[in-house]
Amino acid sequence: MITLKELMLIKPEDFKKKVILIDEILSWFSLLDASWIHSGDPKDPHAELTSGWCSNGFFDCLRVLKYINLSDILADQLGKKIRKIIDYTKVDWVIGSPMAGITFAHDVARAIDAPINMCVEKDPADPKGKRMIWKRMAIPEGDWVLQIEELTTTAHTLNEVERAIREGNPNPVNFLPYVGILVHRPPKLPVDYYDQRIVVALIEKEIWAVPPEECPLCKQGSKRLRPKTNWKELTGKN
Ligand SMILES: [Zn+2]
Repeated sequence: MITLKELMLIKPEDFKKKVILIDEILSWFSLLDASWIHSGDPKDPHAELTSGWCSNGFFDCLRVLKYINLSDILADQLGKKIRKIIDYTKVDWVIGSPMAGITFAHDVARAIDAPINMCVEKDPADPKGKRMIWKRMAIPEGDWVLQIEELTTTAHTLNEVERAIREGNPNPVNFLPYVGILVHRPPKLPVDYYDQRIVVALIEKEIWAVPPEECPLCKQGSKRLRPKTNWKELTGKN
C-alpha cells in the first residue's frame, strides 16, 4: 500500500504506458480522504448527509485533483479510454465545468491532443450556484466539443453545461455524443447513456442517497454519522 508521501512524489511519466487498476486509484482517493464507500456490512456506520438523507458513499475529487501529478495521471488514464472509444482527432474543444472540472478538463485536453480547453462558469446571479453561463468566447461553426466532468451523479450538470454553451454561443455548436467522466457515481449502475451521450468513465461506483425511512442500512441497524465530524469513525481510519 502506497503512503501519502510516496503518492505526492509519483511521476506522470511513470504511468504513461500503464493502465492503472481502479482499486489502486481508489486507494489514492482513500489516502487523501477524498472517498469513502460503505463496506455492505451493517455493523459499519453509514453517512448522514447535510440534507438529512442517508448515503453509502462519498467522493470529493478536488482533494485528489489539487495535486498536479495526480490530476495529470488520472486525466491521462481517462484519455486512454477516450482514445479507444472516440475519434479524438475530431475534438476541437474540451470543455469542463467548475470547480474541480476546470483544471481536470485541461489535463484531459492535453492527454488527447485536443487543441483547445475552456470551461463554462457559474452564473453569479444564481444563489444556488447550479446555473452555468458561456460568454467569454465563440466556438466557430463546424468545431466539435467534448464535455468532461470530474464527478457525475445525475445528468443535471451535463445538461446545464450543454444548455449554457448552446444558449451563450453566437452560432450552433456540435457536441460529440460522449461525456468523459473521472468519477461516475449514479444511484444505480449500469448507466451507459445520459440522453444521447455515451458515458466514458474512469471510475464507476453505485452511490445512493435516500430518506432515512427508506434506508436499507438504517433498517439493518447501521449507525448514521455526519461525515465531516466523524470521518475517522465512518471510514474506520486510525
Ligand atoms: Zn440510513
